[in-house]
Amino acid sequence: MGEELSVIEFLKRYRDVHHRDTENTERCKPIFYFLVSVSFHRDTENTERCKPIFYFLVSVSFHPSLLEEIMPQPVRIGVFGGTFDPIHFGHLAIAEEARLALGLSQVRFVPAARQPLKGRVMASGEQRLTMVRLACQDNPAFHVDECELRRPPPSYTSVTLASLRAEYGPAVQLWFILGADAARELPRWHQVEALLRHTHLAIVARPHQHVDLAALQQTLPLQPDQVVLLSGPQLAIASSQLRQRLAQGLPVRYQLPEAVRSFIEAEQLYQQHEEAHD
Ligand code: ATP
Ligand code: MG
Repeated sequence: MGEELSVIEFLKRYRDVHHRDTENTERCKPIFYFLVSVSFHRDTENTERCKPIFYFLVSVSFHPSLLEEIMPQPVRIGVFGGTFDPIHFGHLAIAEEARLALGLSQVRFVPAARQPLKGRVMASGEQRLTMVRLACQDNPAFHVDECELRRPPPSYTSVTLASLRAEYGPAVQLWFILGADAARELPRWHQVEALLRHTHLAIVARPHQHVDLAALQQTLPLQPDQVVLLSGPQLAIASSQLRQRLAQGLPVRYQLPEAVRSFIEAEQLYQQHEEAHD
């Protein structure tokens, strides 16, 4: 029969071995002291009741990385800005991908009034807002945020993120979701450094759009864990192409939600070529 150790014996040996160890020991110390205090309750019933906790804590302290997994994670909220002129399945698919990959509790879609680095928009703010609402209605994690449409243009993401930070407080992690094409433009964005003080970045791959993460990290004050690159479903859909197709009378079914397509039809949106408007 193997040697049976009392809990306290085990802890002493455990301490002797691991106190010679390094950083891990430091991290495990609170657990160790907790275990010692638990095991001083010599009476058997308590010891029995504490055993599962004990084994669990010992296994956690042998694998300190587990601690990070069991510690409560900060709430993460996705913020997805765009012109959404119109919103399409490429947008919805990457929002869902980011939600899943990053464990976001919600994704806030923020239609811009007018993006400073973009030309004119074709549909009105009200129409784009309606389309975003229609597109998000089936997903309880998708929320529509009108803040940029309520502010006078141009719509600066840095202002939006600062107000979300003020609303949610410092404990919440904000994750700004953007496609690879938009990520490449980041260094040109208004107050980008202030923006990066409020948010993490989830950059999503787009077909034929390369993003050099290392170069971006050299140009911008980004912590290594502040940015992730998601491969995403890479749907080759773009609002500009949809507008072109609509102007040519070509079908856009299956590239955007049916409710959005019906709305476009009912409102007779995007019927003219864009040049005609410029
Ligand atoms: P446009 O063709 O007019 O530029 P768009 O389809 O790129 O429109 P935007 O409203 O400009 O749509 O994009 C909002 C955000 O969504 C940007 O970060 C953009 O990179 C991203 N995005 C747009 N389409 C896709 C897609 N198909 N896959 C992944 N990301 C996308
Ligand atoms: Mg675009």
